[in-house]
Amino acid sequence: MNTPIIERAESATGRKVVLVTGASSGIGAAVAARLAAQGHHVVAGARRTDRLRELAEHTAEATARCGGGLEPVRLDVTDRADTEAFVRTARERHGRVDALISNAGVMPLSRLDSLLVGEWDRMIDVNVRGLLHGIAAALPVFREQGSGHFVTVASTGAHEVVPTAAVYCATKYAAWAITEGLRQECDPSIRVTTISPGVVESELADSITEAGAAEAMRAYRAHAMSPDAIAGAVSYALGQAPDVDINEIVLRPVRQR
Ligand code: NDP
Repeated sequence: MNTPIIERAESATGRKVVLVTGASSGIGAAVAARLAAQGHHVVAGARRTDRLRELAEHTAEATARCGGGLEPVRLDVTDRADTEAFVRTARERHGRVDALISNAGVMPLSRLDSLLVGEWDRMIDVNVRGLLHGIAAALPVFREQGSGHFVTVASTGAHEVVPTAAVYCATKYAAWAITEGLRQECDPSIRVTTISPGVVESELADSITEAGAAEAMRAYRAHAMSPDAIAGAVSYALGQAPDVDINEIVLRPVRQR
C-alpha cells in the first residue's frame, strides 16, 4: 500500500479524499471540479473517461493552485466488482476515503404503457443497484477508519411522482429510503446526507427515447439551476464539523414550484 500522503494532509488542512460517481458531466462534474478547486483530492468515476480527462485538464490550474487533485477513473456503478475496485484502489493509493458522493444516474422517462422495460431496468440498475454497490464498497472502509461521509444525489423526484416518471421516481424514492436507513443505522462516526435537487442543467434528459416524454421535459426543464448550485450544497454538507450531519438538502430553481 502506498504512503497515505493525503491522510496526513487531511488532518492538518481539512483536505479530504472524495470519491464522486457520475463525474463525467452535469452535477457530478461540477461537484468534482468544485471540491478539487477547494483543495480536496477527488477521484472522479464514470464510463466516459475521455470526458473525465477533459475535466481534469480543464480544472488542472485551479486545482493545482490550492493543492487539490482530480483523478479520472473508469467506473461502471452497475458492476459491483468495478465499484468495489473504485473504492479499494482509492483507499490503497491515498490511505483513506473521506467521502463517497453517489451521483451517477439515468432518467429515460416514459409512460408505463409504453413498456420500455429495458429502460426501466437501466434506471433500477444505475440509480438503485449502483447506489447499493457504492455503499457495499465504502461502508466497511468507513467503519474501519472510524469516519466517512456518504452523500447521495437523489431528487425532488424522491418526494413526488409525475406522469412518465413513475420508474425514475421509484428509483429516487428508493435512493432516499436507502440513504435514510443508512443514516439511522450508522454509528455517529459516519455521516450520511441526501441531496435532493429540482431541475438542473445537464445531459440527464438526453436519454429520453419516448417523443411525448421528451417534449414534456423540454418545457419542464426550461428553468433549470446551474449544477454549481448542487456542488455548493455538497460542499456545505462536507464542510460541517464532524459532529454535525446535514441529513437532507432539498433545492429547486425559484421558478420550479
Ligand atoms: P448527466 O446525464 O449530465 O450525468 C449523469 C452521470 O451519471 C454521468 O456522469 C454518467 O457518466 C453517469 N453514469 C450513468 N450511468 C453510469 C454508470 N453505469 N456508471 C457510472 N456512471 C454512470 O445528469 P445529471 O448531472 O443531471 O445527473 C446526476 C444525478 O443527479 C443523477 O443521479 C440524477 O438523477 C440526479 N438529478 C438530476 C437532476 C437534473 O435536473 N439534472 C435533478 C435531480 C436529480 P457516464 O455516462 O460517462 O458513465
